[in-house]
Amino acid sequence: MSKSELEQYKQYASTRLSQIIPMLQRYAMGDFSENIEIPEKEDEFTGILVGLNLMLDDIRELIKAETDRAFRFSTKVDEIIDTIQTAARGDYSAHVKLSGKNDELDALAMGINMTIEDVGESIKEVERNKELLQEKIKDLEKSDLAALNIMEDLHETAERLEKTQAVIQQKNIELEKLSSLKSAFLNITSHELRTPMSSVKGYIQMLLKQKLGEINKDQKSALEVVHRNANRLDRLIQDILDVSRLESGTMKFIPKDANVGRLVCETAETMMYSAALKDIKLNTEIGKGIPDLFIDQERIKQVIINLTNNAIKFSPDKSIINIKAKNEQDNVLFEVEDFGRGIPKDKQDKVFETFYQVDSGTDIKFGGAGLGLAISRGIVIAHGGKVWVESEGKPGKGSTFKFTLPVKSVKDIEGRFKAIDIFGLKNNK
Ligand code: ADP
Repeated sequence: MSKSELEQYKQYASTRLSQIIPMLQRYAMGDFSENIEIPEKEDEFTGILVGLNLMLDDIRELIKAETDRAFRFSTKVDEIIDTIQTAARGDYSAHVKLSGKNDELDALAMGINMTIEDVGESIKEVERNKELLQEKIKDLEKSDLAALNIMEDLHETAERLEKTQAVIQQKNIELEKLSSLKSAFLNITSHELRTPMSSVKGYIQMLLKQKLGEINKDQKSALEVVHRNANRLDRLIQDILDVSRLESGTMKFIPKDANVGRLVCETAETMMYSAALKDIKLNTEIGKGIPDLFIDQERIKQVIINLTNNAIKFSPDKSIINIKAKNEQDNVLFEVEDFGRGIPKDKQDKVFETFYQVDSGTDIKFGGAGLGLAISRGIVIAHGGKVWVESEGKPGKGSTFKFTLPVKSVKDIEGRFKAIDIFGLKNNK
């Protein structure tokens, strides 16, 4: 290229550049609205300008996309702010709509929605707890009131109880006085009754034995009736006397050395006449080598009399009663055996209870108040022994009442007797 040609080209390029530069300046200012005009006549600048225009297209597209995105973002942010404000006003059902594009805005919306739901649930829970709390407070207020009422009631009841207690105490004092009066009365009366009864019985026996002159058959049977009834009355008086002594704790025991054979025979002797009235044979059987016992003889005689008397009562006429005593290791065993109606197995313990009669309908006719065996049991136990009955419970097979007394006597028989709760009164206290 010649110098002039070069000069000419420089001139041309400067003109072209002066056309292009203002456009470039606009672009630099951020105005990409217009493309650079490309002259029809192609030259060295055409390729650059076409490339520049393509770049301008790309830039405009990019700017549009970014603007769209910014617009969407700002709309979403507005919606989010609205939703949060709605929730803040208490509507926790408010939620941000999802675009479905699964982009970061959807993720943000989902996060906000979950937070609003959580807050809503928590607030509901708080509300529920508040209601529960209020109910509890009401309940507490009610129970407070109830407790107060109960306290008042209790107070009143305590006052009433105190008054009743005072009345009961007074009544108890009166009762104790009455009871000791009654015991004293029973004691005196039964004593007073027993003395004349002894002479009545003595004279009847003398009459029956014809020691005061001969008696005819009718007189004899009449006297026998009197004798039977006198005996009944005597036993009853004895029972009453015992009960009053038991009650007042004044039952006396005076232990002495006693010969068992003699004691049994003497007792049988006193029962002979009652047995004879029913034509009953009384046998005694005393074993060998029985040692003397340190006992209250009168009380043990009373036991044997009770047992023999029952045996006579519940045996048929013309039967046999055996009274036995024998040595058995550390004890002496006493037995009164009859062949009467017997005692059923389930009643055998009960007969030793006070006022118990196997057949309450008929047994009363035989006389007695259901006390004899209970008292006898007390006497035997106080002496350190045991008493029981053996029977098949079949009529004719009878029963055998047995009791033991220890060879080595126990101490304080009287105290032991007092400790026995014959009437079952102590359990009721
Ligand atoms: P009671 O004074 O009424 O005879 P007991 O305590 O001596 O009182 O006897 C209680 C009851 O035991 C009698 O009523 C009777 O039912 C029964 N019983 C006692 N001994 C005999 C016996 N040998 N045979 C049959 N039953 C008896």
